[in-house]
Amino acid sequence: MAIYKPVVLRTIKRDISRIKNKKLPTIAGHKLLYECNLRCKMCPFWRRPDNNLLDLKHEILMMEKLKEGGVSYLGFEGGEPLLRKDIRDILYESHKRFHTSMVTNGWSLARKIDNIKGYLDFLFVSIDGGEEIHDEMRVIKGSFKHAVEGIKASKGKVQIAMSSTVTKDNIDHIDEILDLSRKLDVAVNFQIEYDYKTADNISPEKEKLSNLLDYLIEEKKNNSSLIMNTKQYFESIKNSWFNGIKWECRPWLTINIDPEGKVVMPCYVINEYSGSNYIWDIDIKRLWNSYNWNDYMSCNKCALACYLEPSLFKWSSPAMVQSRIISPIMDYIKFNGLKE
Ligand code: SF4
Ligand code: SF4
Repeated sequence: MAIYKPVVLRTIKRDISRIKNKKLPTIAGHKLLYECNLRCKMCPFWRRPDNNLLDLKHEILMMEKLKEGGVSYLGFEGGEPLLRKDIRDILYESHKRFHTSMVTNGWSLARKIDNIKGYLDFLFVSIDGGEEIHDEMRVIKGSFKHAVEGIKASKGKVQIAMSSTVTKDNIDHIDEILDLSRKLDVAVNFQIEYDYKTADNISPEKEKLSNLLDYLIEEKKNNSSLIMNTKQYFESIKNSWFNGIKWECRPWLTINIDPEGKVVMPCYVINEYSGSNYIWDIDIKRLWNSYNWNDYMSCNKCALACYLEPSLFKWSSPAMVQSRIISPIMDYIKFNGLKE
């Protein structure tokens, strides 16, 4: 009998087992380092020093703790993850345990994709506009060309999408991103900029953002399969920031681990991504079910897709089950085929 690849099966099994209502993280994000070869204006991370990065042994220890805590999806980020010399080994270990993704600025992707393609379920490449605005926001000339070369070299080898941050600098250039998405036939996932105290504050102006959200909602109604975000994602931001109708944040669904192995609480942005306890010193299940999450449920301060999208998910909504569970599985099968 044909079955899906084990990693997909494991993911679905763990997702279903959490219906029992325990507060557990399902998605993990891990910054492998803060160092980056780009200097994006809106990014606080390249400005931070890397002190004690995890070696492979500790990366594996972290993964085992995450698995124990109920995590199904592990996403690697940075800084620039491809600067890690041991990236292949780390992805290999992750792929054995989790649905594994990575976000890269794409600078060295064309050169490195063949080394890592077997251990990634999904790859995001950051693109913030056409060449001029992308290079301006990312400060280093050539960023756009390298990222596009990386996307072209990776297509067909791994499931891939562009990741775009909407700021006041590129909000008038969103069509350039959508054009590129059509031209490359690669979907795009949008994030709305959050202003960190230690980065340039370039979140979009309210009126322009409101218009953009309307536009993206319409695009989703027209079934634009090139936009990965759900329609509900854009509607929730519009409702919360412009109409006073809040979405309920469930920050416990996502756990973030900093480059030293410390857990970032209660979420990515509050406390400006600062880690507290080492992951191997805590019992995730106990901490997650004793922590006072109530203070954050009506926060609505950010619109980070890794928090907002899972917070909106409801098993009782057929549209959501279709867009979050069934469609990704079908895409996965289309891309990877079935395994006996
Ligand atoms: S590429 Fe990513 S990590 Fe590097 S500076 Fe830009 S936003 Fe920050
Ligand atoms: S809405 Fe608030 S609690 Fe939720 S992820 Fe954003 S900053 Fe954190």
